[in-house]
Amino acid sequence: MRNITIGLDIGGTNLRIGAVTRDHQVLTRKIIGSDSISKAADPIDELSRLIEQFIAENHYENIKAVSLGLPSSVANDNETVICTTNMKNRSGQPIFQNTNVAGYLRDRLKLPVYVNNDTSNILLYDISSNGLQNRKVVIGIYIGTGVGASVLIDGKLLKGANGAALDLGHIPYFRGTEPCSCSKHGCCECYASGWKLQKIRSACYPEEDIQNLFARHGSEAPLQEFVYSCSHVFSVMATIFNPDAIIAGGGVIEMDGFPREQFEKMVNENTGLDVMKYGFDYIYSKPNADKGIVGAAIFADRMMAG
Ligand SMILES: [Zn+2]
Repeated sequence: MRNITIGLDIGGTNLRIGAVTRDHQVLTRKIIGSDSISKAADPIDELSRLIEQFIAENHYENIKAVSLGLPSSVANDNETVICTTNMKNRSGQPIFQNTNVAGYLRDRLKLPVYVNNDTSNILLYDISSNGLQNRKVVIGIYIGTGVGASVLIDGKLLKGANGAALDLGHIPYFRGTEPCSCSKHGCCECYASGWKLQKIRSACYPEEDIQNLFARHGSEAPLQEFVYSCSHVFSVMATIFNPDAIIAGGGVIEMDGFPREQFEKMVNENTGLDVMKYGFDYIYSKPNADKGIVGAAIFADRMMAG
């Protein structure tokens, strides 16, 4: 029986590849720097070779699919990666831009191949591990270096007309003036992200390790302001979607001492009153480095089930 999915979680910094069983256990995993793909002469060829090598090293013969999560929107064909803005090649260009990654790898590997946005795979993992499969509307918002979001409505991932929906890191914060990496000004990521938290650390707590900021200084003004900025994007999303549950995760929110109670109070106070009549559950994504590869396997299962 073909019972192993090769799951990949490709981030701006690290690439994780793992073999995931039918019941979502990870048999083997390997972590490499994403640069070894992005800075290769031919990134997609290098990616293909990495997968072939992983399969050969572990002598896997019963593979049902290969499934990749990438830091990009994926077009509605579920094959074409729109743009890996944070993964650049040797020439400084995004490694994949309107690239049919699934089609290329399928031809090379002779296996079913699926690609998905990395945040959507994490949401699928969190829904599965928290038993939320039967909820009508579940939102996942993940604040790490940047901001990622995914929404599941009636069991379906919300993709938008072309696959580019929910680029939440670049939702405008009203009249914000901070310049963003995307070339706009005043995006969400300028105020509520790991990148901003690093800026606060350098300006106000240069001696402190970033991991200790909430635990040691959470009640002080710079971090209060930061938590408020994080809560804002949750209020916007809750007001739009009237969710059953919001999953909150990502490196910033999963940090020790992140003031959950106060954060929820801020979100609740700013969410539209009609939505708040019903309320919603807050669920915190638990740190687990394998989330992305297991989520990729869950996505492959969904695609194979049609
Ligand atoms: Zn932006």
